[in-house]
Formats: sequence, structure tokens, C-alpha cells
Amino acid sequence: MATILDGKKAAEAIRSQLRDEISRLGKKPGLAAIIVGSNPASKMYVDIKERTCRETGILSERYSLPEATTESGLTELIKSLNSKKTIHAILVQLPLPKHISEHRILSAIEASKDVDGFTSHSKSQLLAGNESSVPCTPKGIIRLLELYKIPIEGKNAVIIGRSEIVGKPTALMLLNRNATVTICHSKTANLREHTLKADIIVAAAGKPGLVTAEMVRQGSAVIDVGTTKVNGRLIGDVDYEKAREKAGWITPVPGGVGPMTVAMLLENTLQCYKNIEGEK
Ligand code: NAD
Repeated sequence: MATILDGKKAAEAIRSQLRDEISRLGKKPGLAAIIVGSNPASKMYVDIKERTCRETGILSERYSLPEATTESGLTELIKSLNSKKTIHAILVQLPLPKHISEHRILSAIEASKDVDGFTSHSKSQLLAGNESSVPCTPKGIIRLLELYKIPIEGKNAVIIGRSEIVGKPTALMLLNRNATVTICHSKTANLREHTLKADIIVAAAGKPGLVTAEMVRQGSAVIDVGTTKVNGRLIGDVDYEKAREKAGWITPVPGGVGPMTVAMLLENTLQCYKNIEGEK
């Protein structure tokens, strides 16, 4: 039976450390969260991020803009936040409405305030092996693997999903730690063939039940990033109950990667603050 990777507990410990550290700073770190439109999931994520910011001593400002906001209007807001002294980190909640280019908007964020690691600058840094600004979910996954001392170097890691915010950066971070990485996606011919060779599976497709126990190698680490709401409940990509009988380690949904993502957002906010204010 697998060891449960308790992201909730790990995230609580990280938040408590951050709270102590932040209470000793000269000023409060400030995070601006921008949300465009009325997507309920986006609103829920921003609510959680704001609440945990407040609990950790981070000043949080929310900018809720209507669906019809223009790209230039949003760019102007980002420019003003780039130069706002009390704001150290800027988060643009994705997805944005279709008429706005995510790439151009994210690129408008000042590199030093890029809390999510989504700007072209941060992406190219990660590609070159520099992890000074990396997206929160991949960072949370790696932190969880490290906390539980799960071997990475020389291991086969299979990532299911190739998104810019989860799949690709997770693959790069595992590669930086000398894993042998395979990225699978919706056009992969035989997913099971790949996952059965994996010491580490990261499932980030957003397809409930995609990873069955038959696809899991005995003793492997199974990280379930997927979160899909089904009948009001959050469901991961992995058949948790059956897969935990084969895996060596496994994350629950909820309570695995999700809380780690939020903890890493707080950590990245503090890092942005330190970079800008020159505090150690
Ligand atoms: P996305 O839709 O951008 O990407 C999904 C990826 O999965 C794509 O690359 C696609 O090719 C791949 N995919 C889809 N169906 C597949 C299949 N049948 N077989 C193999 N690959 C398949 O999604 P995303 O933004 O990367 O998010 C993925 C999931 O993770 C979603 O459920 C999302 O809600 C969740 N998520 C959770 C957190 C967290 O903190 N827990 C953070 C971000 C995303």
C-alpha cells in the first residue's frame, strides 16, 4: 500500500515558516491578483490565494475586471502594477477571455514581479536550468517529491500533459534533476506502454480516471495534478483507490498538489519581495 503524499500537511508547515519569516520583514510583501471575467473556478482559486495570503501576512489586492476588458486596458493595469511600490508580485489568473492574448499579457509583467514564472524571461531561464522563477504547481510537485525523499536522479519520469503551466515546466524541472523524462499528451499512441516504465508518473491531463491501476508500475510515485469537478466533488486523473495498492507513493485529490501550489505562490511572492527590496 502506497505512502500518501500529504500535500495539505506539508503546505501547512511551509505556510507557518513563511508567516514567521514575513512577520520579521521591514514591510509587507504585496501580491496583486488580476481576474478577468466571471469563471467560477478562477474566482474560487483567487479566493483561496487571497485568504492564504492574508493568513500569511502578505498584502493581497484583487483586480476583478469584466469579461469585455480589452487587451490594451489589461496591459495598462499591468504596467501600473509594475511600477506600484507596494506590489511585489503580479498574478494573472488564467484562462483569460479568448479575445486577449495570454502570451502578450503575461509578457507585460515585469520580470522581477513574475510570481507564476509565466513570462518569456522566466521560461527561457528554466529552459537554461535556472529555477529562480518557476511556476507554482511544478515547484510544488518537486517540493513534495523532495520532502518525501523520492529518488529522481536516473529515474524514469512520465508526464501526462504538455501545458505551459504544468506539463512542460514539470518535465524541465525533473530533467534538471537528472530524471529521464517522457512527455505524453492527447496524441500519444499507447499511454500505458509509457506509464508502465515510469518510476514517477505526473498526471496532469484533467481527465478523471485516465490513469488506472493497470497503468501503474509496482512501487512507483504517482502524482495526481488533475482537478475536475464532478457532481460538486474534485476528482483527479488517477483511480486513487486501486492505484494506491500498487504505487509506492501517491497524492490524494484534494489534499495533494493543490495546497502545495498555493504554498509555492506564497513562497514565490516572498522571493519577489526579497529581490525587489534587497532583503535577504
Ligand atoms: P491543459 O488542458 O492545458 O492541458 C492538458 C494536457 O493533457 C494537454 O497537454 C493534453 O495534450 C493532455 N491530455 C488531454 N487528454 C489526454 C489523454 N487522454 N491522454 C494523454 N494526455 C492527455 O490543462 P492544465 O492547465 O495543464 O491542467 C491539467 C489539470 O491539472 C487540470 O485538471 C487542472 O485543473 C489541473 N491543475 C491543478 C493544479 C493544482 O494546483 N492542483 C494546478 C494547475 C492545474
